[in-house]
This record gives sequence, C-alpha cells and structure tokens, in this order.
Amino acid sequence: MNITWIKCKTDNCYLVSSGNDAVLVDTGSSVSYDKVLEECSNYNMRLIVLTHVHFDHAENAAKLAERFDVPVAFHRADLELFESFDKQPMVSYGIVGKVVLDTSLKVLRSTKVVKPDKTIFIKEGDDLSEYGIDAKIIELPGHTKGSIGVDVAGTDLIVGDALDNWITPATGHLYTSRSNLISSAERIRSLGDRTLYYGHGKPTGNAFKLLK
Ligand SMILES: [Zn+2]
Ligand SMILES: [Zn+2]
Repeated sequence: MNITWIKCKTDNCYLVSSGNDAVLVDTGSSVSYDKVLEECSNYNMRLIVLTHVHFDHAENAAKLAERFDVPVAFHRADLELFESFDKQPMVSYGIVGKVVLDTSLKVLRSTKVVKPDKTIFIKEGDDLSEYGIDAKIIELPGHTKGSIGVDVAGTDLIVGDALDNWITPATGHLYTSRSNLISSAERIRSLGDRTLYYGHGKPTGNAFKLLK
C-alpha cells in the first residue's frame, strides 16, 4: 500500500494505491484541480472518498469523478452540505481555531460544492478492498456530522479535519459538535501506532494535543 501526499493550497489530498489501482481521498478546491488531476492520471482510478463535504476537500469531486468515471463516496450525514454549508454551522476553539474560522468562513459559506452524479454512502467498517486497496472506513464525527477517516492497512490513518496540524497536531479546531469531536480524537488515539495524515498540515505519528 502506498500513500501519495498531494499538497494543495492550504489543504491535502491523498492517493492511496496498490500497484496501479488508486483511490483518491479528498479532492482539494478548484484552484488545485490541475495538480490533483495530474497525480491521478498516473493511476487506474477506482474511487473518490470524501472525508467530509467542505469545499476545500470536495470541490473537485464532481469534475474528477466524471473525468475518471468513478463514484464518489461519503457519509450520508454530510449529504445536506451539498445544499449549503450552513446546514451544519461551525464553532472554533482557541486562537488557531479563531484565525482559521475568521479567514475561511466567508468562502466556506459562499462556495457551492457540486454534488457528483454517481455517489455511494459509506459508514463505519466499510472495506475498500473491492476498489483495489487495503483500507477501512472509520466514522469520526464532530468536525461535520458525517466526517470519516480512512484506515489504510492498519498502519496509516487519513483523518480529514477530525484532527489538524496547522501549527502542531491537535484535535480539529473547527467543529459542529464538540463532544463528538473529542470522542473521535480519543478514538484515533486509542488506535495506537498509526501515521496520521491530516486535511491540513504535515503527517505525524499518532501523538497530538487532545482537547478536553
Ligand atoms: Zn472541513
Ligand atoms: Zn478542511
């Protein structure tokens, strides 16, 4: 199993591949479309997974899905975010959270994420082996209601925005439910030895500041 880190503007996407088969986890925003497309073009694309439906992770999903003729998988609880970001208003904690929310709220609210034609709902325990990779879905609600992570081969965990590494690795600074966010962070910690891949910031080991 191989993970290719695609660094976008302020966000990350990951290509999880086994041989020539690949699954794209998150798609970046429209400014990163060409870069993500180029990376994906090296592989036999099988599926696109969204850790959650915010534009910086999902804006290119519909276009890439059409280009590669693959479905887009996400959790049902985030379906409403294709209608409007305001279906799940966000709160922040701490100084980093305030800065991130202040600088991104306007664009989060004003950027409409196009719903892909072919979609699949994913949930806890779903196995992606039918798409050519050794990975499972884990539910990590709190940042959004439908936030999920992708646990790759029991060694690497793509966490979306359940955690972030804007400055240091920590519980995600923006959330719709603080209690769910904390439970999800505790769950990640309980998984033990993993390399964590964030929606924002560099990968680290499984050690981060846990919000109480
Ligand atoms: Zn987000
Ligand atoms: Zn994000």
